Amino acid sequence: MADCIFCKIASGQVPSNIVYEDDQVTAFRDLEPQAPVHVLIIPKKHVESVLGLGDEDRELVSHIMCDVIPKLARELKVAEKGFRVVANTGEEGGQTVKHLHFHLLGGRSMQWPPG
Ligand code: 5GP
Ligand code: ZN
Repeated sequence: MADCIFCKIASGQVPSNIVYEDDQVTAFRDLEPQAPVHVLIIPKKHVESVLGLGDEDRELVSHIMCDVIPKLARELKVAEKGFRVVANTGEEGGQTVKHLHFHLLGGRSMQWPPG
């Protein structure tokens, strides 16, 4: 999508601190980290949010959840103590970038409920 910042990051048009990449997924450090480890995991193709996912995306979501996130959590050394995965969705969900992304946050104790 032409004016989407995360599409531009996924395609390399906009630089970012990439920690993982394959043909379907890019993961990069958040510009304004909210925890010692704060990485965003995105599909390379533009999907607005979890509400934009379809049957054809089942393998992609499984790949993100079953492979990419556990691998990153281990590599970034937050797997043992714990971490949080968040997909803010829509206005009241606090979503500011309308390209599906999973926040992986760790390296400190998380609070519940979130703000
Ligand atoms: P949301 O608020 O939509 O759940 O999360 C969007 C996240 O993207 C925010 O944590 C914000 O700091 C991050 N972000 C926004 N623009 C950029 C950017 O250009 N580069 C990077 N690395 N992160 C960004
Ligand atoms: Zn996009």
